[in-house]
Amino acid sequence: MPGSSYFSTIRVVSYPGFPYHHQRTLKPKTPLLSVIIVFMLDTLAPWPPEYTVRKSKRAKYIRLSVSAKGVEVVLPHACAYREADTMLQSKREWVQDQLRRFASEKPIIQDTELNDVFLRAVDQLWTIHYVADAKRTRLLQRENSTLVLFGDIEDKQRCQALVIDWIKKRAKQILIPWLTELSLEHDLPFNDVTIRGQSTRWGSCSSEKNINLNYKLLFLPERLVEHILLHELCHTKHMDHSERFWNRLQQLDPHCDLMEKQSRRAQKYVPRWVE
Ligand SMILES: [Zn+2]
Repeated sequence: MPGSSYFSTIRVVSYPGFPYHHQRTLKPKTPLLSVIIVFMLDTLAPWPPEYTVRKSKRAKYIRLSVSAKGVEVVLPHACAYREADTMLQSKREWVQDQLRRFASEKPIIQDTELNDVFLRAVDQLWTIHYVADAKRTRLLQRENSTLVLFGDIEDKQRCQALVIDWIKKRAKQILIPWLTELSLEHDLPFNDVTIRGQSTRWGSCSSEKNINLNYKLLFLPERLVEHILLHELCHTKHMDHSERFWNRLQQLDPHCDLMEKQSRRAQKYVPRWVE
């Protein structure tokens, strides 16, 4: 059984319609066993799977990958999001085959130890170094994607609190301009925005058009964060979850239903030490 770092990738050189060679066929020995195994495998790899879509300025081709962390499609910046869906559908057999291979492995293991911070929304990995000294416990951000914790480094709670404060600051720097940009793009003005750490909501919007965003959004896939921001911006026009609200959101995000479903299961992206 491959380890959890095992990673499968398809790179699409000419899209659409390219030959691929990763497909494996299951050959059970008896028909009865065949039925049982196929049934088991189908429950291990339901269709369509949950997947994330990410746009990359560096990507030249559409890339589909399946890892222990799930299915991800990386799109070149100019590509429309719907191409991710087309890509996924066209590679259904391969994706299911890969998912089955990972299904018997352990689910996403998120460190309870605080060794690094992966801000999935912006694809940034920050490594944490610890330096013990006799002064007060403090955190320093270095340029090379490194955070250094000085002081009483045995005080785990204090260290975690410092890192969480740092993430909240990053969230302000990242989420506020992101929301502002979408607001201007779609002509959905808001009054004010605050960053908080609610445990049950990714965001909210008041009747005064004040938007609240959860700093933990930074741990979610970019595509999902964008959807959640659009969701809150739509509340500046429709305060409820009426049909008019969903119609508006659907116009802004054609994968609205899937994204809503994913946002309800997105807690898994938040590391345990943040809870
Ligand atoms: Zn809502």
